Amino acid sequence: MGNDPEVLVIGAGFAGLYTIHRLRGLGISVHGLEAADDVGGTWYWNRYPGARCDSESYYYCYSFSRELEQEWEWSERYPGQAEILSYLEHVADRFDLRRSFSFSTRVVAAEWDGDRWVVDTADGTRWTCRWLVTAVGCLSSANVPDIPGLESFAGTWHHTGQWPHEGVDVTGQRVGVLGTGSTGIQAIPVLAASAGHLTVFQRTANFSIPARNAPLSASEAAGYKADYPAIRAVQQASTNGHPFVVSDVDTLALPAGERRDLFERAWERGGLRFRAAVREVLTDPAVNDQASEFIRSKIRSTVRDPEVAETLLPRDHPFATKRPPIDTEYFETYNRSNVTLVDVRADPVAEITPDGVRLASGAEHGLDVLVFATGFDALSGPLLRLGIRGRDGVALTDAWAEGAATYLGLGVAGFPNLFTITGPGSPSVLTNMPTSIEQHVDWIADLVAHLRARDLDAEPTPQAQERWAEHVREAADATLLPQAASSWYLGANVPGKPRVFLPYAGGFARYREMCDAEADAGYPGFALRERRRASA
Ligand code: FAD
Ligand code: NAP
Repeated sequence: MGNDPEVLVIGAGFAGLYTIHRLRGLGISVHGLEAADDVGGTWYWNRYPGARCDSESYYYCYSFSRELEQEWEWSERYPGQAEILSYLEHVADRFDLRRSFSFSTRVVAAEWDGDRWVVDTADGTRWTCRWLVTAVGCLSSANVPDIPGLESFAGTWHHTGQWPHEGVDVTGQRVGVLGTGSTGIQAIPVLAASAGHLTVFQRTANFSIPARNAPLSASEAAGYKADYPAIRAVQQASTNGHPFVVSDVDTLALPAGERRDLFERAWERGGLRFRAAVREVLTDPAVNDQASEFIRSKIRSTVRDPEVAETLLPRDHPFATKRPPIDTEYFETYNRSNVTLVDVRADPVAEITPDGVRLASGAEHGLDVLVFATGFDALSGPLLRLGIRGRDGVALTDAWAEGAATYLGLGVAGFPNLFTITGPGSPSVLTNMPTSIEQHVDWIADLVAHLRARDLDAEPTPQAQERWAEHVREAADATLLPQAASSWYLGANVPGKPRVFLPYAGGFARYREMCDAEADAGYPGFALRERRRASA
């Protein structure tokens, strides 16, 4: 194979690992390139205090191997970062995947030369391949805001997605956290427990549901293992790839007391199931208002200082139109005497000084450690950073200047033999991602086998891509999701990023059926070219 496998895969997270395993199983020569020095992806990089999954352990895992499902033991309802990383390391060992990867190898350019992909890495190595599969993740490009003065800061600063492996000792320190998304909401309670003082800089107040994490008992674990066929069937038929059936109760028709009881039960059970307990929460504004107001009432009754509670009340977007965080004692943390909440929408950050953060009003907050929980240049960001050039040298950055466009989130017109796992326009981040990843990898593996058997190259047709973009828009517009103006789903968190609703909101099951129909019909949305003509 040398430096010329049939397929090159970029990334060694859930997606890259399974791609290598699946393609190897088909007898296709395949190699992976990964910037990190080991496997894990998200769970290799995100080692911030409190990093934990919001999907539950029994389904935040692969389903492709019945033996793996039965032998792995999860210890908690929601697995922590270290446990998920151990799981992925175990998968790499069990299926002997590491031998197919080059680690500490960052891809900096990938160009289609009319016949093959020519891929360059930061260490100066060149690879070629016929098919290029990106498994670079949706949330792997850290977004560090460009705030004047950061270089002058005398303390230390860290982005949560690039957290030092040796950890950061904040004992007794003055710590600042910028950002109250899922990451900030997980990190804040844990940091507050050991920091001398914690200052939270909040731009947008967020809804959050208690996780209710707990050890997984032996009987619960055994029950899940026995039920896996049924659990997987529910996931495949679901909107979000989670094994929950969305409630069929019409909450609008319920008397107020019964409605409150329904919300209370869902709140007590905790987690992302809360969303599934409220039918049409993402499509009917009246239903959403009820759920939003219920959560606001919980914030008011949890946070003792009414002014702080008021600042924490989310009002600028309906519940779940931004990815809903789940938490462990997040709102309770604001009752601690060593925690200060600062509203940086009312008084924005002006600059970072050697001593901390200065706001537009001139108010200063002294800090020893500044934590950027400011998220990611999501979905398109990691792909644009690959330096991809397609047919006729067209750069992906130019093709996507007005916003990312794909066919099914799996390929891009003008970029032959490039397949994107959980790319923009796929359900990806709106789902339990291992479920979506397995569906994508299986679909791409079948396509590559189809092309290989017939000696064909493939790329989406511009017409199919345009139709898909329209469908992605319609699917988003049929929901309340576009109402969250500051959402990273829209690219709104990165200055200058085109505002396009990036994931496909039409639901996982529907999407899977459309992908299957595309394959069954012989890939009509792709131009399939005989190899000799393509290289002539
Ligand atoms: P990743 O795990 O992101 O792996 C991509 C890999 O590609 C990385 O290792 C990266 O180093 C590598 N890479 C990128 N660019 C290059 C390059 N140029 N050259 C070489 N290598 C490159 N999803 C859920 O469904 N449920 C959850 O509860 C959940 N919790 C999350 C918690 C956090 C803190 C974060 C950040 C994300 C979470 N997600 C969750 C989403 C999570 O990203 C996915 O579940 C999943 O881990 C993605 O796997 P992946 O292999 O597609 O991408
Ligand atoms: P995020 O949701 O994008 O949140 C970033 C936060 O930083 C927001 O509060 C944002 O405010 C703020 N921010 C960004 N730039 C800022 C600036 N210049 N000044 C002030 N505030 C700024 O990022 P995230 O919390 O890392 O989460 C990203 C996604 O990763 C999640 O939505 C989820 O999909 C995944 N994730 C999952 C889990 C889990 O499942 N356990 C945990 C962590 C992350 P605005 O809202 O005003 O933009």
